[in-house]
Amino acid sequence: MIVRDGTTDVIRAAADLAERLPEPLAPLARIAFNYRWSWLPGGAELFRAIDADRFELCGQNPVRLLQEASARALRRAACDKNLLDRAAAGEAAIRADLDRPPASEIDPDHPVAFLCAEYGVHLSLPIYSGGLGALAGDLLKEASDRAIPMVAVGLMYRKGYFRQRIDAGGWQHEYWIDTDPPRLPAALVTDGDEHPVTVEVPISDTVVTAQIWRVEVGRVPLFLLDTAVPENDPVGRWITGRLYEADAETRLAQYVLLGVGGVRALRALGIEPGVLHLNEGHAALAPLELASGALRNGEPLAQALASARARTVFTTHTPVPAGNDCYPAGAVTRATGRLARELSYDQDDLLALGRTHPEDSSEPFGVTQAALRSSRSANAVSRRHEGVARDMWSALWPGWPPERVPIGHVTNGVHVPTWIGTPMRELLDRHLEGDWIANTADPRTWRGVDRIADEELWAVRGRQRAELVSFIRARSVADRLGRGDVREYVEAAARAFDENVLTLGFARRVATYKRLDLLTRDPEETLALLGGDRPVQVVLAGKAHPRDDEAKRALQRLFGLKGARIIAERVVFLDDYDLATAARLVRGCDVWLNLPRPPLEASGTSGMKSVMNGGLQVSVLDGWWAEAYDGENGWALPGEVDADPDSQDERDTAALHEVMREEVLPAFYERGVHGLPEAWLQRMRASLRSLGPRFSATRMLAEYAAGPYHNTP
Ligand SMILES: *Cc1c(COP(=O)(O)O)cnc(C)c1O
Repeated sequence: MIVRDGTTDVIRAAADLAERLPEPLAPLARIAFNYRWSWLPGGAELFRAIDADRFELCGQNPVRLLQEASARALRRAACDKNLLDRAAAGEAAIRADLDRPPASEIDPDHPVAFLCAEYGVHLSLPIYSGGLGALAGDLLKEASDRAIPMVAVGLMYRKGYFRQRIDAGGWQHEYWIDTDPPRLPAALVTDGDEHPVTVEVPISDTVVTAQIWRVEVGRVPLFLLDTAVPENDPVGRWITGRLYEADAETRLAQYVLLGVGGVRALRALGIEPGVLHLNEGHAALAPLELASGALRNGEPLAQALASARARTVFTTHTPVPAGNDCYPAGAVTRATGRLARELSYDQDDLLALGRTHPEDSSEPFGVTQAALRSSRSANAVSRRHEGVARDMWSALWPGWPPERVPIGHVTNGVHVPTWIGTPMRELLDRHLEGDWIANTADPRTWRGVDRIADEELWAVRGRQRAELVSFIRARSVADRLGRGDVREYVEAAARAFDENVLTLGFARRVATYKRLDLLTRDPEETLALLGGDRPVQVVLAGKAHPRDDEAKRALQRLFGLKGARIIAERVVFLDDYDLATAARLVRGCDVWLNLPRPPLEASGTSGMKSVMNGGLQVSVLDGWWAEAYDGENGWALPGEVDADPDSQDERDTAALHEVMREEVLPAFYERGVHGLPEAWLQRMRASLRSLGPRFSATRMLAEYAAGPYHNTP
């Protein structure tokens, strides 16, 4: 069989790029075409060394950097012996990693196929919006590190997710930037004769053609379907335009493309997956395509799905009812009309699959219900979320007691090499034993944190905080100038931010349930806290969905306080939250805040990223924190559910201020003999020791491999 899974296309793309560079830089062209560099220590520095400013201008995209760097910069790099040595060593390390044999029970000829609407692999691949994407990116990287046979499927959004700009009045505006795939570390998959491999997918009453891009994420190929091809009309090309487009018709078209088109793409590439992992409900139609043979043979839908079901596993991420996508029956039958005729299944059977009560024809079609019914295993993403998901979906198993509803949980985890800051990585390299980064799931690995001297641990925390503070000084001025603020305000935070001051972070999607509001609910207390003798500085970031006016108003209320001098100096909101900003914040902040309305946080992962950097959590006992907090490894706010949201918000605001005043500030500022905050350092150690092993992606992936991915359900 001819291999046409894009492997040779990537090699050719790297060779084409190398040909345009001075000969000694060829290894960098090859490194650029596999994101493995992004979690190799010193990887980014290989490209920064060519032209650090241009690397940032290119959004840290190494392919663009090599295409756009000046001839002079390239000539200089080609004579930089030290750089060439580091590039050779980097390439050899990556090669050795890619050449390892698979190390899991999963048959490499039948890999896990991971399907997701978004991937947060790297800043330079703008096909993510937030936590779901970051989690998916981390999972692929971890599968690569653990040598688990996996392929991934998603969409090549030509305009990605929106970019955010805040105006002087605090209102969010959105804009989109075109992505140019030939400038990405991606190769168009061809049949070897320079013809793109394509799949055809019936959507509405037309047939849409999609080509396929291959992106290397270490050992895991990520295949991205792209409908921006001449065969399609403008509406068809728009399907892979924007991530999370609000228009229902476009969204349904994306779901048909991801699910049905995704499975067709794997077939076209010669990949026969052993397990299909639907990460969130967007890919819920994939099992339908897996069952296409049986359907075409005339089997009824439920029967045809049985064998597809035996190969499909599903992860739900959304305990917010409104977050579970539902569409009216008419819209679904329109979007899938031609598909139904092609596969010859009964439209009513598909609609029933997506209803909580299949007979109730007034009920809309929900992708989560369809995915739950089409999977052999389903899991939530934290222990608490499991309970919430069982309650939410128990009606799908009428007559079953809640504890028998077959939804389990695999708590999320984060890819440590991606999120850990260099000073912290080097510190742990010195003090933890053996190949610790490969053994983060083993509690014994983390015992070494007890051997780190107080001075050393505190110095590393200080370095990571200082790096963040210097970044904030520059960014806050640029963002404030861009908003058109008055000069006094523009420079206030740049002057006041201090590398020795307790730094709090709160950054994530601005959705109402995340309760950014609590920070502004009691302005007097907030002002007192910020202006006390023990200073605090706060950094915030996050995007509200373009159609979520309530969330945008919460943002605006935050900016409503900026007239107070202390707020102008001590509180910074960074526009356009992305993976790179996230990394800076979780590395530098001393305290990471999370204030979801319980029980609406499925897991949350940004706090885990903070843990790996020695950050401490102040968080509502919801999502991952409900199973993580032990009384000594951070601070907790109550997690009970209150039927009256307003009184809950009031109490939680007071609880937040109290814990800050009574616990957090004293622990940070009460210093012992050598000027060290002993209580703080003790808590930092407790956090690393107890949470390091439990919230790394290594533990998460081991659980997926032993549970959902395991051949016998
Ligand atoms: C990790 C991450 C998130 C997740 O945030 P939570 O609120 O903790 O779930 C969101 N956005 C980005 C860019 C991230 O890196």
